[in-house]
Amino acid sequence: MNSQDIIALENSHTSGLYIKQPIVFVRGEGATLWDADGIPYLDCAAGHGAANLGHGNKKVAAAIAAQAGRLITLFESYSNDQRAKLMEKITQIMPGLNRVFFCNSGTEAVEAAIKFSRLSTGRSGIVATMRAFHGRTYGALSATFNKKYHAGFEPLVPGFSHVPYNNLEALDKAIGSETAAFILEVVQGEGGIYLADQEYVQKARQLCGERGALLIVDEIQSGFGRTGRMFAVQHTGVSPDLLCMAKSMAGGLPMGAVLIGPEVKNLAPGAHGSTFGGNPLACAAALAALEVIEEENLCDQAASKGNYLLDGLKKLKSPLIREVRGIGLMIGIELKQKVAPYLRAMQEKHILVLNAGLTTIRLLPPLVITYEQLDFLLRSLQDVLSVEMADA
Ligand SMILES: *Cc1c(COP(=O)(O)O)cnc(C)c1O
Repeated sequence: MNSQDIIALENSHTSGLYIKQPIVFVRGEGATLWDADGIPYLDCAAGHGAANLGHGNKKVAAAIAAQAGRLITLFESYSNDQRAKLMEKITQIMPGLNRVFFCNSGTEAVEAAIKFSRLSTGRSGIVATMRAFHGRTYGALSATFNKKYHAGFEPLVPGFSHVPYNNLEALDKAIGSETAAFILEVVQGEGGIYLADQEYVQKARQLCGERGALLIVDEIQSGFGRTGRMFAVQHTGVSPDLLCMAKSMAGGLPMGAVLIGPEVKNLAPGAHGSTFGGNPLACAAALAALEVIEEENLCDQAASKGNYLLDGLKKLKSPLIREVRGIGLMIGIELKQKVAPYLRAMQEKHILVLNAGLTTIRLLPPLVITYEQLDFLLRSLQDVLSVEMADA
């Protein structure tokens, strides 16, 4: 099948839920993806943060292959060597969060954290932030702020409210005796790459503690080295009650998890569960992914490459840039106008970048991206952002 046939076949069967690009990708290595004609693209989207380790990682691939031949599926009622090892390793990252629930995606991790919060506190209120993105299933969708994700799906789950991000006064008013949890992205991803102030996260921790509410952090996009630490919340010194992760957790294989702190109560047999959650295949992949993150110092790499990229971006000469923000390799370039034509122009230069909202270009490259590739990215952005384009 040639590229045109593949694209036509997908277009005739797609759900219609995705904006389809006219490219067929068949292979990846590091930060490079190759299309069906062998043309390389620099991937600065990394599957929205699912490919922090880069594509085609040999160690992850070998772990998946070996485990696939040994045991793929096993309900969590039965113990397994790979799962036990992963439980030990993943709970070492955030001291005090000693328990873990495994699932298969980000939205499921958020869904579980919301259910655990209600179950634990006997309260129903969930406070989230404006611009937040937490996923697409009903609980997570109700925590998601942007109305465009809600349209046509109401009624949403009752009990959810949204407060302005980084606003302590509003948070102080919102967290009350009926609040089960406050859910926060330490760095907002889809919402436009906004960083929470350290003081805000610390004060949120304090308010939740004092008022019997739980603090949930959503690290689904910011986790696994992306911001220069394993989890972004580690920059703040705060320990949440529930920490949601997914995306890069298993090196790109579907997997999600929630780390659970000591204040979370009432998690009894049968209260929640997942058929595929904690399956040995995903656990083996996650173990290998965590080893790669350690061995290749991907957190430090994200920190230094992120500084290099941020420096370079701040030096770009462009009348279009309003602000550059970010931490590690989670970076937003806010323009004074809509980004769509600039994303297309970057794609024509064989670089994949993301948007975050209508006016921000989002860069989420694999943490293994090379400095040469970062220079290519910077040169290309300079070219593309030099001239104003019409939003066709
Ligand atoms: C991607 C994302 C989710 C949802 O994850 P899925 O695996 O797509 O369900 C939730 N929260 C944040 C912050 C995300 O970036």
